[in-house]
Amino acid sequence: TVAVVLFTADLRLHDHPPLHAALASADEIVPLFVRDQAIGEAGFDAANRRAFLADCLRDLDAGLRDRGGRLVLRSGDVAEEVCAVASETGADEVHMAAGVSAYARHREERLREALEADGRRLRVHDGVVTAVAPGTVTPTSSDHFAVFTPYFRRWAQERLREVFGAPRTVRVPKGPRSEEVPARGDVSGVSEGLAEGGEEAGRKAFTAWRRHGLAAYEDNHDDLAADGTSRLSPHLHFGTLSPVELVHRCRDAGGAGAEAFVRQLCWREFHYQVLAARPASSHENYRDKHDRWRSEADAADEVEAWRQGRTGYPMVDAAMRQLRHEGWMHNRGRLLTASFLTKTLYVDWRVGARHFLDLLVDGDIPNNQMNWQWMAGTGTDSRPNRVLNPVVQGKRLDPDGEYVRRWVPELSPVSGSAVHEPWKLPDEDRERLDYPEPVVELAEGLARFRQARGLE
Ligand code: FAD
Repeated sequence: TVAVVLFTADLRLHDHPPLHAALASADEIVPLFVRDQAIGEAGFDAANRRAFLADCLRDLDAGLRDRGGRLVLRSGDVAEEVCAVASETGADEVHMAAGVSAYARHREERLREALEADGRRLRVHDGVVTAVAPGTVTPTSSDHFAVFTPYFRRWAQERLREVFGAPRTVRVPKGPRSEEVPARGDVSGVSEGLAEGGEEAGRKAFTAWRRHGLAAYEDNHDDLAADGTSRLSPHLHFGTLSPVELVHRCRDAGGAGAEAFVRQLCWREFHYQVLAARPASSHENYRDKHDRWRSEADAADEVEAWRQGRTGYPMVDAAMRQLRHEGWMHNRGRLLTASFLTKTLYVDWRVGARHFLDLLVDGDIPNNQMNWQWMAGTGTDSRPNRVLNPVVQGKRLDPDGEYVRRWVPELSPVSGSAVHEPWKLPDEDRERLDYPEPVVELAEGLARFRQARGLE
């Protein structure tokens, strides 16, 4: 017998329930990845993610070849391509990870119908993309948790499945046509400092993190210059690391750092379960706060300064430049730059979310949109009117100014925390720096925000 294993957001061989089940029940398997045309049509195929994906596909193909198999790569409509491969190889079953986003669940339904019409079966596996499937834990009075802490308490009590090793051998039937696996170099417009993709890189990164970062995570995760977070988000996004395996390994390691890290992994799943229950929140306010945002056209120069990292606020600019250079940004930077756009400039959160999705290598609809809504005060934050002050945040998260000087070299002559307030420098020093004046006074931004929100 032959079974197809359809890879989606789970580009790995370790701890892969669909692969494990297919190998247990079929003599030969077809490891398949379909480059989904719908993702390109939706404008979601940003260069940084395409480049990282190319690394992932190459590595997956190499891992399969080491085990006697290969990856079959197709492009087009997922349901059509899967049905075509199943019929070319005589496969009677297709295994895949359960979809956790609205789009993935829709794709799964279409695929099920198309396969069943051909007399084939779709077998969907939980615990692949998230440790706990959205909708598994719910409060008594609602279909999802809108507050993180009670969700975390319930999530942490869920019994996770065991971890599966990578298969030793994979037998692939002769025949199914495959496109050539792309290389990162084929993609243009990629950020210079983009991390390397693929399961091997992901596993190495996690091993290094467990040895050198995890124990100090609780203390270091907000220190921007120390770069004390795992940077595993792109591997979680593409599934080159398994969330179930990560949770097990961290719990085995134990300690305050591991506990704090597992809690953070749960934030990812919290946002998934919110968006699974309220799919329209990807583009509409989750909670209707009276917000007549300024549009991009209303604030064209300010939005452009924000995108370019030239707002005149060093912490905002450093973070925005890190995003452009690496396709990644520290969580504290994301919070601060999102607060600055939506609250200080009072620009529609969707303008910022779009820019992030154009650059982030971990850019992901549930986590990006729901975090933007969190900071815009239209989402699940219980303090929707908090405004982050870039000077106060800078002095707290980057007390010596090292992070700012790393990303805003024009400010490198300024030492210590004075770098967070260049407007306070003596005129002659200020004039020597090729660094812009603030696009808006913070007090002015705050007054506009408070008035718009009816807080005056
Ligand atoms: P670590 O601190 O090492 O955390 C470990 C993992 O936990 C992360 O890899 C991530 O999977 C998860 N995690 C941590 N914090 C959060 C959080 N607040 N929400 C959801 N998951 C979290 N994360 C994305 O994966 N994709 C996005 O598109 C995305 N967009 C964001 C937009 C905004 C405006 C904000 C404020 C946050 C966004 N985040 C997003 C969440 C968070 O900033 C990143 O997951 C984190 O910075 C990734 O770095 P790390 O892997 O070093 O995190």
